[in-house]
Amino acid sequence: MDFSLNDHQKLIRDTVRQFMEAEVRPNVKEMERADRFPAAEIARLGEMGCCGMLTPEEWGGPGLDTISYVLMLEEVARVHCAMSTALSVTNSAVQVPLLMFGNNAQKQKYLRRLASGDILGSFCLTDPQAGSDAAGIQATAARDGGVYRLNGTKTWVTNGSVAGVLIIFAKTDPAAGGKGMSAFLVEPGFPGFRVGRHEYKMGQRSSPSVEIILSNCEVPAENRLGAEGEGLKIALSALDGGRIGIAAQAVGLAQGALEESVKYAKQRKAFGKSIGEFQAIQWMLADMQTEIEAARGLVQHSAWLKDSGKKMGAASSKAKLYASEMVNRVVAKAVQIHGSVGYSRETDVERMYRDARVITIYEGTSEVQRMIIARELLGEDAKSSAARG
Ligand SMILES: Cc1cc2nc3c(=O)[nH]c(=O)nc-3n(C[C@H](O)[C@H](O)[C@H](O)COP(=O)(O)OP(=O)(O)OC[C@H]3O[C@@H](n4cnc5c(N)ncnc54)[C@H](O)[C@@H]3O)c2cc1C
Repeated sequence: MDFSLNDHQKLIRDTVRQFMEAEVRPNVKEMERADRFPAAEIARLGEMGCCGMLTPEEWGGPGLDTISYVLMLEEVARVHCAMSTALSVTNSAVQVPLLMFGNNAQKQKYLRRLASGDILGSFCLTDPQAGSDAAGIQATAARDGGVYRLNGTKTWVTNGSVAGVLIIFAKTDPAAGGKGMSAFLVEPGFPGFRVGRHEYKMGQRSSPSVEIILSNCEVPAENRLGAEGEGLKIALSALDGGRIGIAAQAVGLAQGALEESVKYAKQRKAFGKSIGEFQAIQWMLADMQTEIEAARGLVQHSAWLKDSGKKMGAASSKAKLYASEMVNRVVAKAVQIHGSVGYSRETDVERMYRDARVITIYEGTSEVQRMIIARELLGEDAKSSAARG
Protein backbone atom coordinates (compact mmCIF):
# COMPACT_ATOMS: atom_id res chain seq x y z
CA MET A 1 0.00 0.00 0.00
CA ASP A 2 1.39 3.38 -0.97
CA PHE A 3 0.59 6.24 1.39
CA SER A 4 2.91 8.78 -0.24
CA LEU A 5 1.62 12.03 -1.71
CA ASN A 6 2.44 12.90 -5.30
CA ASP A 7 4.33 16.12 -6.14
CA HIS A 8 1.17 18.03 -6.98
CA GLN A 9 -0.51 17.07 -3.71
CA LYS A 10 2.63 18.13 -1.81
CA LEU A 11 2.64 21.44 -3.67
CA ILE A 12 -0.99 22.12 -2.69
CA ARG A 13 -0.31 21.27 0.95
CA ASP A 14 2.80 23.47 1.09
CA THR A 15 1.24 26.40 -0.78
CA VAL A 16 -1.83 26.47 1.47
CA ARG A 17 0.35 26.12 4.57
CA GLN A 18 2.52 29.05 3.49
CA PHE A 19 -0.52 31.21 2.81
CA MET A 20 -2.19 30.35 6.13
CA GLU A 21 1.00 31.05 8.09
CA ALA A 22 1.80 34.35 6.36
CA GLU A 23 -1.61 35.85 5.65
CA VAL A 24 -4.04 34.37 8.14
CA ARG A 25 -2.26 33.40 11.38
CA PRO A 26 -1.40 37.00 12.33
CA ASN A 27 -5.11 37.98 12.13
CA VAL A 28 -6.89 35.00 13.67
CA LYS A 29 -7.29 36.51 17.16
CA GLU A 30 -8.70 39.75 15.79
CA MET A 31 -11.11 37.92 13.47
CA GLU A 32 -12.43 35.71 16.26
CA ARG A 33 -12.80 38.61 18.72
CA ALA A 34 -14.67 40.73 16.18
CA ASP A 35 -16.72 37.78 14.79
CA ARG A 36 -15.25 38.89 11.44
CA PHE A 37 -15.86 36.63 8.47
CA PRO A 38 -12.53 36.28 6.58
CA ALA A 39 -14.00 37.21 3.20
CA ALA A 40 -10.79 38.68 1.76
CA GLU A 41 -8.69 35.74 2.89
CA ILE A 42 -11.16 33.24 1.41
CA ALA A 43 -11.18 35.20 -1.84
CA ARG A 44 -7.38 34.84 -1.96
CA LEU A 45 -7.71 31.09 -1.41
CA GLY A 46 -10.32 31.14 -4.20
CA GLU A 47 -7.69 32.58 -6.54
CA MET A 48 -5.53 29.59 -5.61
CA GLY A 49 -8.36 27.19 -6.59
CA CYS A 50 -9.40 26.29 -3.04
CA CYS A 51 -13.06 27.33 -3.30
CA GLY A 52 -13.98 24.72 -5.91
CA MET A 53 -11.28 22.11 -5.69
CA LEU A 54 -13.47 19.17 -6.70
CA THR A 55 -15.21 21.00 -9.54
CA PRO A 56 -13.90 19.96 -12.98
CA GLU A 57 -12.07 22.39 -15.25
CA GLU A 58 -14.99 22.55 -17.70
CA TRP A 59 -16.99 24.25 -14.93
CA GLY A 60 -14.24 26.55 -13.77
CA GLY A 61 -12.61 24.53 -11.00
CA PRO A 62 -9.20 22.83 -10.88
CA GLY A 63 -10.86 19.37 -10.85
CA LEU A 64 -8.59 17.97 -8.18
CA ASP A 65 -8.85 14.70 -6.28
CA THR A 66 -10.28 14.21 -2.79
CA ILE A 67 -6.82 13.65 -1.30
CA SER A 68 -5.78 17.16 -2.45
CA TYR A 69 -9.05 18.53 -1.07
CA VAL A 70 -8.54 17.01 2.40
CA LEU A 71 -4.93 18.23 2.47
CA MET A 72 -6.16 21.77 1.78
CA LEU A 73 -8.80 21.61 4.52
CA GLU A 74 -6.31 20.15 6.99
CA GLU A 75 -3.85 22.98 6.37
CA VAL A 76 -6.55 25.65 6.71
CA ALA A 77 -7.96 24.14 9.92
CA ARG A 78 -4.47 23.82 11.43
CA VAL A 79 -4.40 27.63 11.62
CA HIS A 80 -8.06 28.73 11.55
CA CYS A 81 -10.80 26.15 11.95
CA ALA A 82 -13.70 28.54 11.21
CA MET A 83 -12.32 29.23 7.75
CA SER A 84 -12.18 25.53 6.94
CA THR A 85 -15.87 25.23 7.84
CA ALA A 86 -16.79 27.91 5.29
CA LEU A 87 -14.60 26.22 2.67
CA SER A 88 -15.96 22.77 3.35
CA VAL A 89 -19.57 23.89 2.86
CA THR A 90 -19.00 25.77 -0.38
CA ASN A 91 -16.67 23.13 -1.89
CA SER A 92 -18.44 19.96 -1.02
CA ALA A 93 -21.97 20.44 0.39
CA VAL A 94 -22.89 22.86 -2.41
CA GLN A 95 -20.75 22.25 -5.50
CA VAL A 96 -20.79 18.46 -5.42
CA PRO A 97 -24.63 18.19 -5.48
CA LEU A 98 -24.79 20.94 -8.09
CA LEU A 99 -22.36 18.99 -10.21
CA MET A 100 -24.19 15.70 -9.69
CA PHE A 101 -27.81 16.83 -9.92
CA GLY A 102 -27.73 20.23 -11.67
CA ASN A 103 -28.56 20.76 -15.33
CA ASN A 104 -26.23 22.64 -17.68
CA ALA A 105 -28.03 25.96 -17.26
CA GLN A 106 -27.77 25.74 -13.45
CA LYS A 107 -24.10 24.81 -13.66
CA GLN A 108 -23.45 27.65 -16.08
CA LYS A 109 -25.20 30.13 -13.79
CA TYR A 110 -23.87 29.07 -10.38
CA LEU A 111 -21.13 26.46 -10.52
CA ARG A 112 -18.55 28.57 -12.33
CA ARG A 113 -18.91 31.45 -9.89
CA LEU A 114 -18.79 29.08 -6.90
CA ALA A 115 -15.70 27.29 -8.22
CA SER A 116 -13.76 30.52 -8.62
CA GLY A 117 -14.77 31.80 -5.17
CA ASP A 118 -16.59 34.72 -6.75
CA ILE A 119 -19.59 33.63 -4.64
CA LEU A 120 -19.86 31.22 -1.70
CA GLY A 121 -22.53 28.60 -1.24
CA SER A 122 -24.69 27.48 1.69
CA PHE A 123 -26.45 24.22 2.42
CA CYS A 124 -29.76 24.62 4.25
CA LEU A 125 -31.19 21.38 5.53
CA THR A 126 -31.63 21.88 9.28
CA ASP A 127 -34.97 23.23 10.51
CA PRO A 128 -35.62 24.35 14.08
CA GLN A 129 -37.69 21.14 14.44
CA ALA A 130 -35.34 18.69 12.70
CA GLY A 131 -31.59 18.21 12.51
CA SER A 132 -30.56 14.55 12.65
CA ASP A 133 -34.01 13.53 11.47
CA ALA A 134 -33.54 15.08 8.02
CA ALA A 135 -36.84 13.75 6.68
CA GLY A 136 -38.64 15.56 9.50
CA ILE A 137 -38.04 19.07 8.15
CA GLN A 138 -41.12 21.26 7.98
CA ALA A 139 -40.17 23.90 5.40
CA THR A 140 -42.50 23.64 2.41
CA ALA A 141 -42.35 24.47 -1.30
CA ALA A 142 -45.54 24.81 -3.32
CA ARG A 143 -45.62 25.12 -7.11
CA ASP A 144 -47.41 28.26 -8.33
CA GLY A 145 -47.17 28.53 -12.12
CA GLY A 146 -43.57 29.29 -13.08
CA VAL A 147 -42.33 29.56 -9.50
CA TYR A 148 -42.19 27.65 -6.23
CA ARG A 149 -43.17 29.45 -3.03
CA LEU A 150 -40.97 28.39 -0.13
CA ASN A 151 -42.08 28.82 3.48
CA GLY A 152 -40.34 27.96 6.73
CA THR A 153 -37.17 28.61 8.68
CA LYS A 154 -33.71 27.12 8.27
CA THR A 155 -31.31 27.27 11.21
CA TRP A 156 -27.56 27.08 11.73
CA VAL A 157 -26.84 27.92 8.11
CA THR A 158 -23.07 28.18 7.68
CA ASN A 159 -22.15 31.04 5.28
CA GLY A 160 -25.88 31.94 5.24
CA SER A 161 -25.31 35.69 5.54
CA VAL A 162 -22.48 35.81 3.00
CA ALA A 163 -23.62 33.31 0.36
CA GLY A 164 -24.41 34.09 -3.27
CA VAL A 165 -26.47 30.91 -3.64
CA LEU A 166 -28.03 28.53 -1.14
CA ILE A 167 -29.29 24.98 -1.62
CA ILE A 168 -32.52 24.92 0.38
CA PHE A 169 -34.41 21.72 1.16
CA ALA A 170 -38.19 21.88 1.53
CA LYS A 171 -41.17 19.56 1.27
CA THR A 172 -43.05 19.67 -2.05
CA ASP A 173 -45.26 16.83 -0.78
CA PRO A 174 -45.37 16.96 3.02
CA ALA A 175 -47.58 13.87 3.25
CA ALA A 176 -44.87 11.77 1.54
CA GLY A 177 -42.29 12.29 4.34
CA GLY A 178 -38.69 11.97 3.15
CA LYS A 179 -39.85 11.09 -0.37
CA GLY A 180 -41.67 14.43 -0.60
CA MET A 181 -38.55 16.56 -0.15
CA SER A 182 -37.02 18.67 -2.95
CA ALA A 183 -33.97 20.90 -3.31
CA PHE A 184 -33.82 24.48 -4.65
CA LEU A 185 -31.09 26.89 -5.70
CA VAL A 186 -31.99 30.12 -3.96
CA GLU A 187 -30.38 33.55 -4.32
CA PRO A 188 -30.48 35.96 -1.38
CA GLY A 189 -32.14 38.57 -3.63
CA PHE A 190 -35.23 36.43 -4.29
CA PRO A 191 -38.45 38.00 -2.93
CA GLY A 192 -39.41 36.58 0.48
CA PHE A 193 -35.82 35.61 1.47
CA ARG A 194 -34.47 37.03 4.70
CA VAL A 195 -31.47 36.39 6.93
CA GLY A 196 -32.66 36.12 10.55
CA ARG A 197 -30.79 35.70 13.81
CA HIS A 198 -27.02 35.21 13.91
CA GLU A 199 -26.14 32.48 16.41
CA TYR A 200 -23.92 33.64 19.28
CA LYS A 201 -21.63 30.63 19.43
CA MET A 202 -19.17 28.87 21.74
CA GLY A 203 -16.50 28.68 19.04
CA GLN A 204 -15.73 29.17 15.36
CA ARG A 205 -16.88 32.73 15.89
CA SER A 206 -15.80 34.01 12.50
CA SER A 207 -17.86 31.40 10.62
CA PRO A 208 -21.36 32.89 10.52
CA SER A 209 -24.24 30.55 11.43
CA VAL A 210 -27.59 32.16 10.73
CA GLU A 211 -31.29 31.59 10.46
CA ILE A 212 -32.83 31.86 6.99
CA ILE A 213 -36.46 32.92 6.97
CA LEU A 214 -38.56 32.03 3.94
CA SER A 215 -41.87 33.89 3.65
CA ASN A 216 -43.51 32.91 0.40
CA CYS A 217 -39.98 33.05 -1.04
CA GLU A 218 -40.34 33.06 -4.80
CA VAL A 219 -37.98 30.62 -6.52
CA PRO A 220 -38.15 30.21 -10.33
CA ALA A 221 -39.17 26.65 -11.25
CA GLU A 222 -35.95 26.27 -13.27
CA ASN A 223 -34.04 26.61 -9.97
CA ARG A 224 -35.28 23.29 -8.62
CA LEU A 225 -32.22 21.06 -8.26
CA GLY A 226 -32.97 17.53 -9.44
CA ALA A 227 -36.47 16.15 -9.68
CA GLU A 228 -39.33 16.76 -7.26
CA GLY A 229 -38.97 14.26 -4.41
CA GLU A 230 -35.20 13.85 -4.90
CA GLY A 231 -34.29 16.25 -2.10
CA LEU A 232 -33.42 13.71 0.57
CA LYS A 233 -31.25 11.72 -1.83
CA ILE A 234 -29.42 14.93 -2.79
CA ALA A 235 -28.95 15.95 0.84
CA LEU A 236 -27.68 12.57 2.00
CA SER A 237 -25.29 12.15 -0.92
CA ALA A 238 -23.84 15.63 -0.26
CA LEU A 239 -23.32 14.77 3.40
CA ASP A 240 -21.75 11.44 2.51
CA GLY A 241 -18.74 13.12 0.90
CA GLY A 242 -18.87 16.14 3.20
CA ARG A 243 -18.02 13.98 6.20
CA ILE A 244 -14.52 13.33 4.81
CA GLY A 245 -13.86 17.07 4.74
CA ILE A 246 -15.08 17.55 8.30
CA ALA A 247 -12.86 14.69 9.42
CA ALA A 248 -9.91 16.41 7.69
CA GLN A 249 -10.80 19.63 9.48
CA ALA A 250 -10.62 17.75 12.81
CA VAL A 251 -7.18 16.37 11.92
CA GLY A 252 -5.88 19.83 10.99
CA LEU A 253 -7.19 21.44 14.16
CA ALA A 254 -5.68 18.66 16.28
CA GLN A 255 -2.35 19.01 14.46
CA GLY A 256 -2.32 22.74 15.23
CA ALA A 257 -3.03 22.04 18.91
CA LEU A 258 -0.23 19.44 19.05
CA GLU A 259 2.30 21.83 17.53
CA GLU A 260 1.39 24.54 20.06
CA SER A 261 1.73 21.99 22.86
CA VAL A 262 5.16 20.77 21.76
CA LYS A 263 6.42 24.36 21.59
CA TYR A 264 5.07 25.13 25.06
CA ALA A 265 6.40 21.90 26.58
CA LYS A 266 9.91 22.84 25.47
CA GLN A 267 9.76 26.38 26.72
CA ARG A 268 7.84 26.22 30.05
CA LYS A 269 9.94 25.48 33.14
CA ALA A 270 8.78 23.86 36.38
CA PHE A 271 10.84 22.35 39.19
CA GLY A 272 13.99 23.45 37.36
CA LYS A 273 13.20 21.56 34.14
CA SER A 274 11.25 22.10 30.98
CA ILE A 275 7.84 20.47 31.44
CA GLY A 276 8.54 18.37 28.32
CA GLU A 277 11.05 16.45 30.46
CA PHE A 278 8.23 15.11 32.65
CA GLN A 279 6.90 11.76 31.58
CA ALA A 280 3.30 12.86 32.24
CA ILE A 281 3.62 15.56 29.56
CA GLN A 282 5.55 13.29 27.18
CA TRP A 283 2.79 10.67 27.34
CA MET A 284 0.12 13.23 26.59
CA LEU A 285 2.08 14.43 23.55
CA ALA A 286 2.72 10.87 22.38
CA ASP A 287 -0.98 9.98 22.66
CA MET A 288 -1.97 13.15 20.82
CA GLN A 289 0.31 12.44 17.89
CA THR A 290 -0.68 8.76 17.70
CA GLU A 291 -4.38 9.61 17.62
CA ILE A 292 -3.86 12.30 14.97
CA GLU A 293 -2.00 9.89 12.73
CA ALA A 294 -4.72 7.24 13.17
CA ALA A 295 -7.40 9.77 12.22
CA ARG A 296 -5.39 11.03 9.24
CA GLY A 297 -5.13 7.44 8.05
CA LEU A 298 -8.92 7.03 8.17
CA VAL A 299 -9.42 10.34 6.35
CA GLN A 300 -6.96 9.52 3.57
CA HIS A 301 -8.34 6.01 3.23
CA SER A 302 -11.89 7.25 2.71
CA ALA A 303 -10.64 9.96 0.30
CA TRP A 304 -8.74 7.28 -1.62
CA LEU A 305 -11.84 5.04 -1.75
CA LYS A 306 -13.83 7.96 -3.15
CA ASP A 307 -11.19 8.86 -5.74
CA SER A 308 -10.73 5.30 -6.92
CA GLY A 309 -14.48 4.82 -7.36
CA LYS A 310 -14.54 2.00 -4.84
CA LYS A 311 -17.54 1.50 -2.56
CA MET A 312 -17.08 4.01 0.23
CA GLY A 313 -19.80 2.56 2.45
CA ALA A 314 -19.42 3.70 6.01
CA ALA A 315 -15.72 4.64 5.64
CA SER A 316 -16.39 8.38 5.72
CA SER A 317 -18.59 7.95 8.83
CA LYS A 318 -15.77 6.09 10.58
CA ALA A 319 -13.33 8.87 9.66
CA LYS A 320 -15.74 11.59 10.82
CA LEU A 321 -16.66 9.77 14.05
CA TYR A 322 -13.09 8.99 15.08
CA ALA A 323 -11.52 12.29 13.97
CA SER A 324 -14.20 14.48 15.59
CA GLU A 325 -13.94 12.67 18.92
CA MET A 326 -10.14 12.50 18.65
CA VAL A 327 -9.81 16.27 18.20
CA ASN A 328 -11.77 16.89 21.38
CA ARG A 329 -9.41 14.63 23.34
CA VAL A 330 -6.39 16.32 21.76
CA VAL A 331 -7.48 19.91 22.44
CA ALA A 332 -8.33 19.00 26.06
CA LYS A 333 -4.77 17.70 26.51
CA ALA A 334 -3.38 20.79 24.78
CA VAL A 335 -5.12 23.04 27.32
CA GLN A 336 -3.89 20.81 30.17
CA ILE A 337 -0.28 21.05 28.96
CA HIS A 338 -0.56 24.85 28.83
CA GLY A 339 -1.84 25.01 32.46
CA SER A 340 -3.47 28.33 33.34
CA VAL A 341 -2.16 29.87 30.13
CA GLY A 342 -4.34 27.42 28.21
CA TYR A 343 -7.41 28.92 29.86
CA SER A 344 -6.57 32.41 28.62
CA ARG A 345 -8.18 33.97 25.58
CA GLU A 346 -4.65 35.03 24.60
CA THR A 347 -3.67 31.50 23.55
CA ASP A 348 -4.52 29.57 20.42
CA VAL A 349 -5.28 26.38 22.33
CA GLU A 350 -8.12 28.08 24.22
CA ARG A 351 -9.79 28.94 20.90
CA MET A 352 -9.04 25.48 19.51
CA TYR A 353 -10.74 23.89 22.53
CA ARG A 354 -13.92 25.84 21.79
CA ASP A 355 -13.69 25.38 18.01
CA ALA A 356 -13.40 21.60 18.30
CA ARG A 357 -16.56 21.06 20.29
CA VAL A 358 -19.01 21.35 17.39
CA ILE A 359 -17.20 18.86 15.18
CA THR A 360 -18.97 15.88 16.81
CA ILE A 361 -22.30 17.63 16.10
CA TYR A 362 -22.44 19.10 12.60
CA GLU A 363 -22.60 17.12 9.33
CA GLY A 364 -24.13 14.31 11.38
CA THR A 365 -23.64 13.81 15.11
CA SER A 366 -21.43 11.03 16.50
CA GLU A 367 -24.59 9.09 17.32
CA VAL A 368 -25.76 9.31 13.69
CA GLN A 369 -22.31 8.21 12.42
CA ARG A 370 -22.47 5.19 14.76
CA MET A 371 -25.93 4.36 13.40
CA ILE A 372 -24.56 4.37 9.83
CA ILE A 373 -21.53 2.25 10.76
CA ALA A 374 -23.66 -0.25 12.71
CA ARG A 375 -26.20 -0.54 9.88
CA GLU A 376 -23.45 -1.52 7.47
CA LEU A 377 -22.03 -3.93 9.99
CA LEU A 378 -25.40 -5.56 10.55
CA GLY A 379 -26.17 -5.67 6.85
CA GLU A 380 -28.99 -3.14 6.74
CA ASP A 381 -29.21 -0.68 3.85
CA ALA A 382 -27.84 2.67 5.06
CA LYS A 383 -29.54 4.45 2.17
CA SER A 384 -32.94 3.50 3.55
CA SER A 385 -32.29 5.75 6.52
CA ALA A 386 -33.30 9.35 6.57
CA ALA A 387 -30.83 10.18 9.33
CA ARG A 388 -28.43 12.81 8.11
CA GLY A 389 -24.85 11.82 7.77
C1 LIG B 1 -21.86 25.58 14.02
C2 LIG B 1 -22.90 24.78 13.29
C3 LIG B 1 -22.97 24.86 11.91
C4 LIG B 1 -23.95 24.17 11.21
N1 LIG B 1 -24.05 24.32 9.85
C5 LIG B 1 -25.11 23.77 9.19
C6 LIG B 1 -25.33 24.06 7.81
O1 LIG B 1 -24.55 24.74 7.15
N2 LIG B 1 -26.43 23.52 7.22
C7 LIG B 1 -27.33 22.74 7.89
O2 LIG B 1 -28.30 22.29 7.29
N3 LIG B 1 -27.14 22.47 9.21
C8 LIG B 1 -26.07 22.96 9.88
N4 LIG B 1 -25.89 22.71 11.22
C9 LIG B 1 -26.85 21.89 11.92
C10 LIG B 1 -26.32 20.50 12.27
O3 LIG B 1 -26.13 19.73 11.13
C11 LIG B 1 -27.30 19.88 13.27
O4 LIG B 1 -27.16 20.59 14.47
C12 LIG B 1 -27.01 18.41 13.49
O5 LIG B 1 -27.37 17.65 12.36
C13 LIG B 1 -27.78 17.86 14.70
O6 LIG B 1 -29.12 18.23 14.67
P1 LIG B 1 -29.81 18.92 15.94
O7 LIG B 1 -28.94 20.00 16.42
O8 LIG B 1 -31.20 19.25 15.56
O9 LIG B 1 -29.82 17.80 17.05
P2 LIG B 1 -30.90 16.66 17.23
O10 LIG B 1 -31.12 15.95 15.97
O11 LIG B 1 -32.08 17.24 17.92
O12 LIG B 1 -30.14 15.69 18.23
C14 LIG B 1 -30.01 15.95 19.62
C15 LIG B 1 -29.26 14.77 20.23
O13 LIG B 1 -30.00 13.56 20.03
C16 LIG B 1 -29.20 12.61 19.34
N5 LIG B 1 -30.05 11.80 18.46
C17 LIG B 1 -30.95 12.25 17.53
N6 LIG B 1 -31.50 11.21 16.89
C18 LIG B 1 -30.94 10.09 17.41
C19 LIG B 1 -31.11 8.67 17.18
N7 LIG B 1 -31.94 8.20 16.26
N8 LIG B 1 -30.36 7.81 17.91
C20 LIG B 1 -29.49 8.27 18.84
N9 LIG B 1 -29.31 9.58 19.13
C21 LIG B 1 -30.02 10.48 18.42
C22 LIG B 1 -28.18 13.44 18.56
O14 LIG B 1 -27.06 12.67 18.19
C23 LIG B 1 -27.89 14.54 19.57
O15 LIG B 1 -26.99 14.05 20.54
C24 LIG B 1 -24.88 23.35 11.92
C25 LIG B 1 -24.78 23.25 13.31
C26 LIG B 1 -23.82 23.95 14.00
C27 LIG B 1 -23.77 23.83 15.50
